[in-house]
Amino acid sequence: MLFRELAEYFQRLEQTTSRLEMADILKELVERAGVDEVDKVVYLTLGELLPAFRGVEFGVSEKLMMEAISKACGVRAKEVESLYKDKGDLGETAHYLVKWQGRGLSLSQVYDELLGIAKTRGTLDKVMKLISLLKGLSGFEAKYAVRVVIGRLRLGVGDATLIDALALSMGDKALKPLIERAYNLCSDLGLVARRLKEGGVGALEEFKVQVGYPIRMALAERVVSAEEIVKRLGRCGVEAKYDGFRLQVHKDGQRVEIYSRNLERMTEMFPDVVRGVLKDVKVSRVILEGEALTMNEETGEFYPFQVTIQRKRKYGVEEYSQEYPIKLFCFDLLYIDGEDFTLKPFIERRKKLEELLSGTNTLNVSEMFVTDSVKEIEAFFEDAITRGLEGIMAKRLDAPYNAGARNFNWIKLKRSYRGALADTIDVVVVGYYYGKGARVKLGIGGLLVAVYEPSTDTFKTVSKVGSGFTEEEWIRLRDMLDQIRLDHRHPRVDSLLEVDVWVEPRYVITVNADEITRSPLHTAGRTSEEPGYALRFPRAVSFVREDKRPEDANTVEEVLRLYQLQRKISVE
Ligand code: AMP
Repeated sequence: MLFRELAEYFQRLEQTTSRLEMADILKELVERAGVDEVDKVVYLTLGELLPAFRGVEFGVSEKLMMEAISKACGVRAKEVESLYKDKGDLGETAHYLVKWQGRGLSLSQVYDELLGIAKTRGTLDKVMKLISLLKGLSGFEAKYAVRVVIGRLRLGVGDATLIDALALSMGDKALKPLIERAYNLCSDLGLVARRLKEGGVGALEEFKVQVGYPIRMALAERVVSAEEIVKRLGRCGVEAKYDGFRLQVHKDGQRVEIYSRNLERMTEMFPDVVRGVLKDVKVSRVILEGEALTMNEETGEFYPFQVTIQRKRKYGVEEYSQEYPIKLFCFDLLYIDGEDFTLKPFIERRKKLEELLSGTNTLNVSEMFVTDSVKEIEAFFEDAITRGLEGIMAKRLDAPYNAGARNFNWIKLKRSYRGALADTIDVVVVGYYYGKGARVKLGIGGLLVAVYEPSTDTFKTVSKVGSGFTEEEWIRLRDMLDQIRLDHRHPRVDSLLEVDVWVEPRYVITVNADEITRSPLHTAGRTSEEPGYALRFPRAVSFVREDKRPEDANTVEEVLRLYQLQRKISVE
């Protein structure tokens, strides 16, 4: 197939506004393409060179493209720029300026040249290759090639339309689910088209999960109560819902690749996960899924999502990962040594996952238990929220992994709230923890803090606080606390938690938090039947408040009021 023919199809696609007509044109196009061409046709039609998970990008800016057009056409850069301003499209600009006929290149030849440009590192080399590409194309062909290179093809063709077209090309609309299934298992529509062309329907029926091809991720439906979970699923697996980054990890021998929820390649962002997988996973080929989070090693609490996302940077990932180590909580196993696990029931996949990761230390399995008790689910939910988690996930025990689908086989229960608490809270420091990780050198990593209960004149714990101070402040604080250290818990402090150093309840600090939650770990507001209250994501906003006595800290009752207030404004 000639590149000119493809460009003609692109022109027709550009001119239609009807999705049905679009599917018809695409059907014709995939029929016209040869077995070795159809994948390339699919990628280019989507405006790509390869599926996104391959992480191949052109890296050609408009400016660079203008330079190439200017040099290829022997026109001054200023002129190219003003033409571009005029036409608003570099494809049209190239079409106007390229006066030669072109060499009648085949689709595959042009595709290879495009791939060569993407793989070239240096700017100068890229420009040379762009010039050589332009020299081989006619103005009409250049228009589309230029748009592909700068990411502006925009034919409006989506995956779904292409899938329709593939089904049409087989003369059977009923094939759509089969094509979708194959796509969900490999996220590569070019590959699906090629297999279909090569081996017909049979090839798709036999389509299997492959390491190195991300499986489109299963998604969850939401409910607003634990009752609803039990009503829908009965006995089910209940897990902590971690608020991090969903990762699909593929291990193939010594090679590990990591994909994000939207199937982008993220391997470089998680060098520590790669090392962990190589060290801990003892089988040679595996695909597993989990949620990656950064954890405060001092308090055992998770950092908010914003801290994890910071890794999405070009430089300093290694340093960042030292400071904020990642924990990967694995929750599903999709493939292991040649065996496709996606069709097996959840509980079986889970058992295998636990077996695989038992005794490992960098990879964890998500917390999970099996129940049909609403009360147990509620208690777990409250506890999860307190520990800085997002909520819980419930999973149908006998469900397969629903690649690319959202349904009630997975259910999420989240607490929603409007940003931070309406107010800051004054709390009393009752003890501290020695630092772990980066904080060892400071000798202090977190505080146990409490609020005041006037009726019994005691201090009831409400949170651990591990952030908000500078290094200097931590050191100063440790010195101050060491002056009032005790070798046992102060009698006026009511706590279920242990600390490394107990102190006299003397110093008040002001903290901010995202939310107040119920918690079985803290004593503020706790009764024999009811759990206590706790702060979620607390951070100090002041150093020691010299102006406040411990009894001036907020009271348990005030915390309760804040909790009720936040329930009222809760949006869900
Ligand atoms: P949402 O993003 O609110 O639709 O919730 C679904 C997301 O929760 C998934 O895409 C995962 O990234 C995340 N998640 C956290 N913990 C779990 C878990 N234990 N099982 C499944 N998904 C989880």
